[in-house]
Amino acid sequence: MKYAIAIDLGATNMRVALGNEKGKILVKLKERTVQKGDKHSVACQMLRMIASITEKHTVSIAGVGIASLGPLDLKKKAIVHPANLSYNIIDLKPLKKTGRKIFLLHETSAAVLGEKTFGAGKKLVNVVYVTLSSGIGTGAIVDGNLLSGIDGNAGELGHMNIDTHYNFLCSCKKGRGHWEAYASGKNMGRFFKHWLKENNINKPSFKAESKTIFNAAKNGNKTALKFLNDVGKLNAKALSNIIVAYSPELITLGGSEALYHSKLILEPIKKYVDTFLKKPKIMITPLGEDVVLLGVLAAVFSQKGSRL
Ligand SMILES: [Zn+2]
Repeated sequence: MKYAIAIDLGATNMRVALGNEKGKILVKLKERTVQKGDKHSVACQMLRMIASITEKHTVSIAGVGIASLGPLDLKKKAIVHPANLSYNIIDLKPLKKTGRKIFLLHETSAAVLGEKTFGAGKKLVNVVYVTLSSGIGTGAIVDGNLLSGIDGNAGELGHMNIDTHYNFLCSCKKGRGHWEAYASGKNMGRFFKHWLKENNINKPSFKAESKTIFNAAKNGNKTALKFLNDVGKLNAKALSNIIVAYSPELITLGGSEALYHSKLILEPIKKYVDTFLKKPKIMITPLGEDVVLLGVLAAVFSQKGSRL
């Protein structure tokens, strides 16, 4: 049996796991991603977490895979100006100290590979994965090929333009009207405040944050439900663009928003998505929070991603 170390670097959490080629995760560590420091702080956190696994488990390891938030710069072996972390650059070169083969890929590329290898996309060749979390991103397999793009950033569709009405500046600061500026966990609160004004609705008693908005909706609050229906219309617009771009058979949704509030996310998308092309199956990933880690294992065993 082959084993590998899989790392999932997100803006909020870092997960490091030991898993095998059958997609079984044997050990999994989770820590809050170091939010402040120098360009090597995140790599040092990874090294420490890897060591705490390899010290206790002495199996032979085929390699280390890193799925990271973007944008990636594969020449620099780094993440540059991530939208949801305060670093200018996260340099991953210190990982070479492990002396192991290291593969780097975008987190959503890893996720779609996980879906295709171990999840709902096993028998399919056209699969898209969408993460709705503190940020938004997508990964696509088209005709069996994992799309990578320049520097592995083909999955940055969270920064596609879906709105000109509110025209919000995105947290990436590189453009306006980006999907992530409306529907991501980080930015939904701002959208909610502007949406209340736009619709002449009084400020509700709950905080303008994604978590409290979802909870209010679950408790039947009409304002929260109406707002999330409008967020759903924007999500459906984005998925409509994805469908005409890739013509997928399956779109799976993951990330904390989709996993913890599946009904509130999924229902409006299914209701409002365009039907110019045949509607693909749209569902929450059955792999849950592990979809990225499983994709990283698949990447190491199939030698996909960029070598560090
Ligand atoms: Zn953006």
